Amino acid sequence: MQWKHFKFAMKVTEHIKNAKKTLFSFEILPPLKGKSISSIYEGIDPLLEFEPSFINVTYHREEFIYKKREKGYLEKINIRKRPGTVGICAAIINKYKIDAIPHLICGGFTKEETENALIDLQFLGIDNVLALRGDPIKTESSFVPEENGHAHAIDLVKQIVRMNQGIYLDDEITEASPTQFCIGVAGYPEKHFEALNMKTDLNFLKAKVEAGADYIVTQMFFDNEKYFKFVNLCRENGINVPIIPGIKPITTLKQIQFLPKTFHIDFPEQLADELVKCKSDKEVKEVGIEWAVKQSKELISKGAPCIHYYTMGKSETVKRIAEQVF
Ligand code: FAD
Repeated sequence: MQWKHFKFAMKVTEHIKNAKKTLFSFEILPPLKGKSISSIYEGIDPLLEFEPSFINVTYHREEFIYKKREKGYLEKINIRKRPGTVGICAAIINKYKIDAIPHLICGGFTKEETENALIDLQFLGIDNVLALRGDPIKTESSFVPEENGHAHAIDLVKQIVRMNQGIYLDDEITEASPTQFCIGVAGYPEKHFEALNMKTDLNFLKAKVEAGADYIVTQMFFDNEKYFKFVNLCRENGINVPIIPGIKPITTLKQIQFLPKTFHIDFPEQLADELVKCKSDKEVKEVGIEWAVKQSKELISKGAPCIHYYTMGKSETVKRIAEQVF
């Protein structure tokens, strides 16, 4: 099998350190509850030929929905449509021998639940995590931490670092075996939407790195200049860990509207001019692929350590890009 020579059971920072060229990685969503794991494999299989160094699995928190009951009553129900990341990552590693990286979020988790998830990961031999705050749930206007949970990603980073030092929440646990997590965090070339300005956002990013984050993965961007500027700003501000660019190929007319609004990102003029001419998803997809190829080639030529693709379940699109780039 083609994937047998993959190097795995390594930390992301080791993958980057050992690499002789820009690495390829991508992100997948857990299947909706009720769907089998094979839907995940169907998304991964077409991309194996490009030798992904690692595969990220996103975390989707609970949401509230209203269900109609007898006599017109509406019942508010808390549901999670997708399972967590630990089992899926274990399944990926077991099947493909490729490192899988679970996203861990603060939202909806107490510190104790986080500790339990990290212990499960340690037992499974999964030594990579991406530590995030998570977004507010749809019915909340701003992020509300769980009671006895974390308010910011930095607090999650600190908890993981403490476990790497063998310090658990219960101070009666002594001589605990330290975990070995390599910790990634999020960075925003166009600023996080809640941040007062780029400078404060960078200061908080720097604090995450000083707390123990080993590398940064960026929010999607469509203008490479924004990424290059962001990397320069990070370096000028003493943030010296690898910064992995995140690339999202646009594939539908709907995305043209919701991506800027949801992710607070701009489309550069040249791309926007092409997109407004599109009349169908098919046309958007062609423009999206061409743009992502152009972005990827430039990022590689300027030495990006890895390119991380947001597949959003569309691996066929990423395959077409990777064929032209890797
Ligand atoms: P933080 O680092 O906590 O930052 C959030 C905001 O608070 C920023 O404005 C920051 O400037 C500010 N801030 C940071 N620290 C402090 C502090 N100590 N005091 C005051 N303000 C502070 N979401 C999911 O739900 N699941 C996922 O799987 C997921 N994957 C992602 C992957 C990547 C690569 C990226 C870029 C984002 C992902 N997200 C995911 C989205 C992410 O959860 C949101 O963008 C969220 O709003 C912020 O997360 P963060 O980890 O950047 O938070």
